[in-house]
Amino acid sequence: MALHYDLHIHSCLSPCAQEDMTPANICAMARLKGLDVIAVTDHQSAGNLPAVAACAAREGLLLVPGLEVCTREEVHVLCYFADVAAAQRMGTWCYGLLPDIPNRPDYFGQQSLVNERDEVVGTEPRMLLMALTAGLDEVIAQARALGGVPVPAHINRGENGILTALGFLPPEARFTALEVSPELPLPGGLDESRYRVLHSSDAHQLGDIAERGRTIPVAPGVAEVLRWLGHATA
Ligand SMILES: [Zn+2]
Ligand SMILES: [Zn+2]
Repeated sequence: MALHYDLHIHSCLSPCAQEDMTPANICAMARLKGLDVIAVTDHQSAGNLPAVAACAAREGLLLVPGLEVCTREEVHVLCYFADVAAAQRMGTWCYGLLPDIPNRPDYFGQQSLVNERDEVVGTEPRMLLMALTAGLDEVIAQARALGGVPVPAHINRGENGILTALGFLPPEARFTALEVSPELPLPGGLDESRYRVLHSSDAHQLGDIAERGRTIPVAPGVAEVLRWLGHATA
């Protein structure tokens, strides 16, 4: 069994994402591209995940609920959960550690909360792109306490990749999986064979959602995906 995947997609709740990155549009596009499983991972918030879950179910897509958390070190960590409720608890925890700085929609973009019919039902007032006051170790511990799997995002990208921010993968983090930007080279010295390696899109617009091509070798189920991600290969 192999699932075609894209486990890093932003909805219109992320200020940097296009306004048409609505739950229904994302799921329809993922279906059109022939994907089996997606994760919508907005910055520091699970606010649109209930709507995404409803749309994914309608499209027959598997959804892994997730968030992209920015740690105090400015490292982006994807956190994947077994259900929307656990992702929402992570979101609540993040919100308590997010500096209270208002978003400037004219400059950063809108942060829209939408329902499963793609109707805007609210706006997130606080700027979600700020780094949390919590460090990497705390974010990882919190994600795992909620049964989640933390995966450092775009590790080979200059901006907010862990290798740029810290220079290495801290062994005490015990990462089992890494996300690698498909279009960038991997730095030397990294033993890729020790990790589950994801090549997701980090899509901020519909056309950038991954094409059918890359797969993960698991049966269709969120628990199966999390178990695979959480198992180091060495
Ligand atoms: Zn990122
Ligand atoms: Zn992202």
